[in-house]
Amino acid sequence: MSCTEYKNIWVYAELTGGRVSQTTLELLAKSINLKEKLGGTDKIAAVILGEHTAEYSKLLFSYGAEQVICVEGAKLAEYKPRVYKDALVKLVEKHKPSIFLFPASPLGRELAPRVMCRLGTGLTADAIDLDIDEDGTFVQTTPNFGGNILSHIAIPEKRPQMCTVHPKVFAPIEPIEGAEGELIKEELDIACDDCYEVVSTEEKVITGIPVDKADIVVSGGFGIKSPEEFGMLKELADLIGGQIGCSRPICENGWFGHEYQIGQSGATISPKLIINVAISGSVQYMAGMDKSKCVMSINKDSNAPIFDLSNYGVVGDFRAVIPAIVEEIKNRRA
Ligand code: FAD
Repeated sequence: MSCTEYKNIWVYAELTGGRVSQTTLELLAKSINLKEKLGGTDKIAAVILGEHTAEYSKLLFSYGAEQVICVEGAKLAEYKPRVYKDALVKLVEKHKPSIFLFPASPLGRELAPRVMCRLGTGLTADAIDLDIDEDGTFVQTTPNFGGNILSHIAIPEKRPQMCTVHPKVFAPIEPIEGAEGELIKEELDIACDDCYEVVSTEEKVITGIPVDKADIVVSGGFGIKSPEEFGMLKELADLIGGQIGCSRPICENGWFGHEYQIGQSGATISPKLIINVAISGSVQYMAGMDKSKCVMSINKDSNAPIFDLSNYGVVGDFRAVIPAIVEEIKNRRA
């Protein structure tokens, strides 16, 4: 394999519930920046698989794609990892992109490693930043070793350089009305995967505002010892019009669903206010909330790393602090 044969930046355009995912648009925006740093000669392509995919090309052009490479057909109507992997491998072998970015969504995390394995190339998982260094090397940044270090990863000898990228670390561009590009419709000979059949899909119903859409979040961590104690946080959240969020151990305990988890492997949020309760502030947690406008944290340990990121900090037991805040709010409103 000669790396010089490979050119262009690809973004896997993910469809969720019939819509192009927000992370896809974020990756297109970052690709514009990477292209500039690479000298401006690479093309930015969105690659989309599904039953009727060409119809998304207008939107993808408006968000920065210069090419849309689409494969359509009934065999691609439902996402099946092996079928999608075969299609992407064939596309890569034909077009030879240099960089191939995927959203670090459940689908991207499943599909990208399969494609990487088949192509025998390299893949960085869950990147939180992408850049081109002064030598023109594509560098992916990801937290490693329990989040204690940030690794800067390059894939110097293999192509394409693959990467799954965390949601919300880049902002999409303002869509350019009427933007045009090249629509490439590929006909591929795709084998079915008869091992299983998708009978139906149902979107999970989430009550209330999703944590990544809320303006105010009250987030609880592993210092909270029972679901009942979370009641205090819920009371505070309701009082100030907020939504509940949590750190990963709380989800692992089964107290809340994954959709409430904030962090590297959960939601990335940027609310106007977040109140962190009994959360230590691991790199993985903070990666999901460090863009919050105002951060308040309650922790009994004055050395907890979460205070490094906080605008306001209370050192104390949340069991005493939260009822006091709730009472004060009620008094002032009375
Ligand atoms: P702890 O670290 O146990 O902190 C509990 C805190 O509560 C302590 O600081 C303690 O002082 C305080 N406390 C205890 N009692 C009280 C009290 N009564 N009053 C006030 N304070 C009190 N974690 C995430 O959250 N999100 C992720 O997306 C995520 N992704 C990960 C991905 C990978 C690949 C890996 C390896 C880990 C990931 N983690 C993630 C886990 C992460 O490393 C930490 O283990 C986790 O964030 C710790 O959660 P915590 O702060 O709630 O718990």
